Amino acid sequence: MIPFNKPYMTGRELSYIAQAHANGHLSGDGPYTKQCHAWLRESTRASTALLTHSCTAALEMAALLLNLQPGDEVIMPSYTFVSTANAFALRGAVPVFVDIRDDTLNIDQTLIEDAITPRTKAICVVHYAGVACEMDAITAIAEAHGLPVIEDAAQGIMSTYRGAPLGTIGELGAFSFHETKNIISGEGGALLCRKAEYAERAEIIREKGTNRSRFFRGQVDKYTWVDIGSSFLPGEITAAFLSAQLEEAEAITQRRLDIWRRYHDWASDHAVAGRVIRPTIPDGCVHNAHMYYLLLPSLEARTHFIQSLRAQGVQAVFHYIPLHSSPAGRMHGRAGSSMAVTDDISDRVVRMPLWIGVEEHLPHIFEAADQALYAI
Ligand SMILES: *Cc1c(COP(=O)(O)O)cnc(C)c1O
Repeated sequence: MIPFNKPYMTGRELSYIAQAHANGHLSGDGPYTKQCHAWLRESTRASTALLTHSCTAALEMAALLLNLQPGDEVIMPSYTFVSTANAFALRGAVPVFVDIRDDTLNIDQTLIEDAITPRTKAICVVHYAGVACEMDAITAIAEAHGLPVIEDAAQGIMSTYRGAPLGTIGELGAFSFHETKNIISGEGGALLCRKAEYAERAEIIREKGTNRSRFFRGQVDKYTWVDIGSSFLPGEITAAFLSAQLEEAEAITQRRLDIWRRYHDWASDHAVAGRVIRPTIPDGCVHNAHMYYLLLPSLEARTHFIQSLRAQGVQAVFHYIPLHSSPAGRMHGRAGSSMAVTDDISDRVVRMPLWIGVEEHLPHIFEAADQALYAI
């Protein structure tokens, strides 16, 4: 079976882990964490970047930083991973789901304004497949209503929108280094703060609500409990692994983009014939080839396509049960617009295997997918 995902190792992970072991510093915020922070700041130009143990944790930190109260509302897409909503629901806030565009599958910026109520406290966008949302329009709406924008950029490292790295356009951004993402550390993530205003409190929230980071820098002579918080930081072994990956981020992105383009070229005839719809990359968006997906004509067609690929040894997958129709989404959130596109797309999307090393299998994958599509 050609798997849907296979984590890529650069080859230096183990020696960096051995070095972390030799350094004798295994808890968080050691030399490898500092190296990752510096890399993230330089590559994104965010004023602060803090490693977390997951993107989920980074989103939870964002929700804490916003001081959300029970009953506050946060606008977000329904077509996303559960962590986008969970982070805010954990604060008692209500996720208000807005439909997506049928081209990029990102939140439909034209529907956001109508979903704003006096209780709205933030807009959380998700850059699906590492392709940016319409951030100029979204930022304008947010500014007009005095709302902060949070970017769930879990899939968006190394992508840009009009030259700006994803995760640095809103007030706060969250990356994921989960093994299914482009740059990995098993579990892992980072919180980006565009401006300094959130930075000091972010550091405190991440360190169990203490001013320990200031203490280690010699800025206070003892450290103490100063705010609510939790343990959101990864250990040095994880940071050592991530250091090896970040050093190769450019090369990893280029190799993924080559694979992405080969899928896109292959799918072109099927798109012309109306058998599939290919992803759209709007002008001004530079993406990171996080995902190659296709839209099939119907749920039945998608089911046949995935089964046929499976029978030919290729694992393709679908995702997102829309949050507005999931049990917890119904309990904690509500729809803030029609969900017509979300409901339709989530029945028709299929994700193809995209990982470094899949290149040698592409001829077989294309042949299997041709056969599956002609049979639909
Ligand atoms: C992967 C992902 C997450 C969660 O990332 P973790 O690092 O596993 O917590 C959140 N949001 C989106 C859109 C994702 O794709």
